[in-house]
Amino acid sequence: MTDRIPLAAVLGQPIHHSKSPRLHGHWLRRYGLPGHYIPIEVSSGDLEDVLRMMPRMGFVGANVTIPHKVAVFEIADQITDRATIIGAANTLIFRADGKIMADNTDGYGFIENLRQGAPGWDAGAGPALVLGAGGACRAVITSLLEAGVPQILLSNRTRIKAEQLQEDFGKRVQVVDWVQVGNAIEDAALVVNTTSLGMVGQPEMRIPLDGLQKNTLVTDLVYTPLETNLLRVAREAGCRTVDGLGMLLHQAVPGFERWFGRRPEVDDALRDAMLT
Ligand code: NAP
Repeated sequence: MTDRIPLAAVLGQPIHHSKSPRLHGHWLRRYGLPGHYIPIEVSSGDLEDVLRMMPRMGFVGANVTIPHKVAVFEIADQITDRATIIGAANTLIFRADGKIMADNTDGYGFIENLRQGAPGWDAGAGPALVLGAGGACRAVITSLLEAGVPQILLSNRTRIKAEQLQEDFGKRVQVVDWVQVGNAIEDAALVVNTTSLGMVGQPEMRIPLDGLQKNTLVTDLVYTPLETNLLRVAREAGCRTVDGLGMLLHQAVPGFERWFGRRPEVDDALRDAMLT
């Protein structure tokens, strides 16, 4: 087993759009490591059989994406605390004893991107205004609370989903009505868009942004386009901004390190490789 070239994959359906093969392939080439990372289209009905077979075929782990991020909980033998809190997994480790460990690295990727993109960012500086209440939002809230943000002002078009998150995460999360979000911006030390608004093919973000303060840090999970309307307005208002591409890159770091034995760097060369 130890002489085998390590294999890893991303499993999903559809899978052709996934950027993960390019990302891991870049690192494998850059560090001259033996190994391969491939996209595999897997239906929900085949997921368990495929995952049980993969370790025997030389796979050391996998990423999972839509529609398998929650379903893998039923198959994994061990689930990390952060994946449990987020309620979904994106990274699987196939252990030497044949057990499958499920982790979620989205929150890690989000915070590392902020730290790299806004050096000196102080989580304790004030409340964070988080827009959205979907799957990615759970990872963002988890990581912000862990980083020490004192309060999260959470606003979503469908208020009940934000209230559900408040129930799950407790008193440090406070729900703000979607129509009031322009007022909450004034109080925010950090603004995070976790909705799909502003993404190519989606409606524009239309919330009032004139309350943005110069010392507010603004970040967007959307990375197509790289500079969303939210980030452009924030930059023009004098705010520091961090785009969403880095989150995608950083979330891949823990998996690559576990599978291929080297902690990879997120740098300009990687960003360029992902953008060409
Ligand atoms: P999701 O679970 O489908 O949630 C979508 C969110 O967007 C919900 O809060 C939804 O509000 C909101 N939304 C959609 N259309 C809206 C509209 N017209 N007006 C107001 N709100 C609207 O999606 P997700 O998985 O959380 O992903 C959200 C975004 O983050 C996507 O663009 C995704 O590509 C991006 N993302 C980026 C990374 C990265 O690495 N950078 C990682 C994960 C996700 P309702 O609840 O009212 O429907």
